[in-house]
Amino acid sequence: GQMHRYPDASCYELIKKLSLKWSVPPEYLALGNGSNEIIDVLIRTFCEPGDKILTSEAAFICYPLCAQAARIGVTKVALRQDYTMDMKKMAEKVSSEHRIVFIPNPNNPTGTYVNKNDIEDFLRKFGDSDDLLICFDEAYTEFVRAGDYEPALNYAKKYKNVAVVRTMSKIYGLAALRVGIMLAHPDITKYFHKVRNPFNVNSLAQVAA
Ligand SMILES: *Cc1c(COP(=O)(O)O)cnc(C)c1O
Repeated sequence: GQMHRYPDASCYELIKKLSLKWSVPPEYLALGNGSNEIIDVLIRTFCEPGDKILTSEAAFICYPLCAQAARIGVTKVALRQDYTMDMKKMAEKVSSEHRIVFIPNPNNPTGTYVNKNDIEDFLRKFGDSDDLLICFDEAYTEFVRAGDYEPALNYAKKYKNVAVVRTMSKIYGLAALRVGIMLAHPDITKYFHKVRNPFNVNSLAQVAA
């Protein structure tokens, strides 16, 4: 009965619930029309023509698609023989042109993950760097059972240049309603909110989520 009204642009109730669930201030959270929109907005917020994003071969398709649409270059690092992301090679490839590194963990479509050691080595080199955003895309994180897998929520609380992107599409089966979540330092979410569309998460989605 309320569908003639615009949605709550700040997603107040949902952000409040998520902030309790993950023990972070609400300023650490932002929502998207699916995590696809979050990826798109991050690229348009933090890259400008001449900049590039860094990811691997066979990484989630949205990164190169959104980058291309924004006239942003893409560096793709070769996978290891077992189809896992080669974080050492990724680290070697980081240059002053790169604004965002996308690490899908686990990755779709390969179904592989990056282990905790590889992540922490990478963060020791680039954590808190001023001009490189490290984005962990964790759409399938809830399905992982491996003992050496570490979700990146705590890294996003610790490093000001780490963003974690989650989705309600997979584990909660809400793909049609489009709800993506980002947890990142307020310096990141602040600029994200300036660029996103005001009513990007619809009312039914907010209630369902
Ligand atoms: C499904 C998926 C997404 C996109 O999810 P939505 O929230 O539905 O947009 C993003 N990244 C990965 C790795 C995915 O598998």
